[in-house]
Amino acid sequence: MSTLKVAGLRATIAANGADVLRGVDLEINSGEVHALMGPNGSGKSTLSHTLMGSAEYEVQGGSVTLDGEELLGLPTYQRAARGLFVAMQYPVEIPGVRLADFLEAALTGAGRSTDDLDARLAAEAERLGVADRFLRRGVNVEFSGGEQKRLETLQLAVLAPKFAILDEIDSGLDVDALRDVSRRVEAMTQERGLGVLAITHYARLLTELRPDRVHVLMGGRVVASGGPELAEQLERTGYEGLAAELGVEETIAPASVPDDPFADPGF
Ligand code: ADP
Ligand code: MG
Repeated sequence: MSTLKVAGLRATIAANGADVLRGVDLEINSGEVHALMGPNGSGKSTLSHTLMGSAEYEVQGGSVTLDGEELLGLPTYQRAARGLFVAMQYPVEIPGVRLADFLEAALTGAGRSTDDLDARLAAEAERLGVADRFLRRGVNVEFSGGEQKRLETLQLAVLAPKFAILDEIDSGLDVDALRDVSRRVEAMTQERGLGVLAITHYARLLTELRPDRVHVLMGGRVVASGGPELAEQLERTGYEGLAAELGVEETIAPASVPDDPFADPGF
């Protein structure tokens, strides 16, 4: 069994110094599904990018360990090689690079076998309802939002990491695609012990992908954690209602962006 542990993680935006993550704590074991919910701008995507080592964010403190090994300070490809995967909220287009080439590079970079890659890719594509023509184009090039999310899930299935962070994998998906994607992820948790952090706004994803734990991120901190009933409570109260119930309103101010020195040129 593996454990991904985030402790006291603090991070700022490199471009403007805004303080976004203010001490995030999370612990996920193999086979568990954790849902992370939170209002817009609360730092959910910042957390997923920081875990993967994006240069757009600067870590100010805390730790991120996978089976006790510190990941902070490692380049992204080494975090991936240790078993971390992020499905991005806004996947990037890679013109001229087909998915098979992209996956071959990812597996080779991690020192893993590419034997049977074509067969595995074809089998997973069929299981996820990804048509062949999408595999012949550049990764994500001229894909709809929903197609991109199916393709992210296909990458996840072939790469088979230990932990996957799914940043709004449900946004842009129609009902059928939502069911296909969540069933595939759910099967990976059962069959291969994949641990999942599913960032979402919608309880609908959580009816398919049944979470063991639900966390609420506000103002860059996990302000509440509980079982699936927490997601139901949120549907009723909204984030403001929950913050009022918890008495954490003052602590959840959004990230303060330093004043723009060029905003008022004074002449
Ligand atoms: P969420 O995913 O919870 O909606 P984000 O993590 O994307 O929130 O953003 C948190 C805050 O940080 C927002 O105010 C957002 O505008 C800001 N932010 C995030 N990334 C950047 C960036 N690269 N440059 C400038 N501001 C950013
Ligand atoms: Mg986001």
